[in-house]
Amino acid sequence: MSVQRAGMLLFVVVALMTIKTFANAGSKSSVAVKPFGPAGTSQNTDLYTLTNNLGMVVTITNYGATVVSIQVPDKAGKFDDVVLGFASAKEYEDGKAYFGATVGRYGNRIAHGKFTLDGQSYTLPKNDGDNTLHGGLIGFNKRIWTAKEVPSKDGVAVQFSYTSPDGEEGFPGTLTATVLFTLYKDKNELRIDYAASSDKPTVANLTNHSYFNLAGQGHGDILGHTLQLNASKFTPVDSTLIPTGELREVKNTPFDFTHPFAIGERINGADEQLKFGRGYDHNWVLDRQAGETSPSLAAVAYEAKSGRVLEVLTTEPGVQFYSGNFLDGTVHGKARAVYPQRSAFCLETQHFPDSPNHPNFPSTTVVPGKTLHSTTIFRFSVK
Ligand code: BGC
Repeated sequence: MSVQRAGMLLFVVVALMTIKTFANAGSKSSVAVKPFGPAGTSQNTDLYTLTNNLGMVVTITNYGATVVSIQVPDKAGKFDDVVLGFASAKEYEDGKAYFGATVGRYGNRIAHGKFTLDGQSYTLPKNDGDNTLHGGLIGFNKRIWTAKEVPSKDGVAVQFSYTSPDGEEGFPGTLTATVLFTLYKDKNELRIDYAASSDKPTVANLTNHSYFNLAGQGHGDILGHTLQLNASKFTPVDSTLIPTGELREVKNTPFDFTHPFAIGERINGADEQLKFGRGYDHNWVLDRQAGETSPSLAAVAYEAKSGRVLEVLTTEPGVQFYSGNFLDGTVHGKARAVYPQRSAFCLETQHFPDSPNHPNFPSTTVVPGKTLHSTTIFRFSVK
């Protein structure tokens, strides 16, 4: 045997020894865990692989409770990875785009890095011009979470937990966050259940920042995808992407996605809001039925060539549709993919940006004894 072959054999044996697999009794669905490399002060991270009976595979790392890949079939049954991401924790640590991450403590922007709660004012580090974005300098996306596989009657599930100390990134209160990812065993759906509680009044807004390209990551831009949003209003922004406080009707604007439109159809129009966002980078106010507490349909994206459809369901009042405007082709992702501008889109289910400074927006305050809960589902199909 050549030295190379012997080396390869040893690598395979070691890899098999480090992979733990938990099969779900009586079905093909399973969770496996393997190392995802060091991050931070050389702490090791893991990658969890969730597989369902239909062959859908989702990988998630405890670095940032980040969705690393989602493999789903196209209309011919061919599987592709439909989210942007990296192959190791270190690349996520160096990254700036929040690929697939759990974003917190406060998703999206807080104006001037300031807010007042119960008469007390708080100052946060500014990491986006004069504003705080996605939880500050070291948000939840850059933390190592504690992971454990949990039993689920619906499929396979892994829960990630992170306790954010009082004062971290300027926020008051010790906030304990858990994010439970469940891959359904007999349907191509990834469900995300968020919970957060605090020992002092604070603010929180948790979301997932997956970047989707339904043609497969690294396969061109998303301008030809169609998108439908169940929202008759959106929250217009100023030039720094902070909401003005207005809830504006989408009717007769390029923000009307109440019927499916190609993402690229109006994106380069003269509308001032599109100029501010360099495309779409706004929060839509979801039309929810009064009293509805279960996840309801927020968005439907469709890519004709693959036939893939993504439906997003949520309990949240808003969704940030971001058309990947700040991607610039400099970042190299998994499988040597490059990610030029608008090569993916995000549908970040959320409370509205800068809510702590807008009393007319749904509240993002978390008080002791009352756990915040929200659920979002990414449902895949073909047509
Ligand atoms: C924001 C964008 C930002 C992107 C990546 C989105 O949620 O709205 O403005 O560039 O995240 O950070």
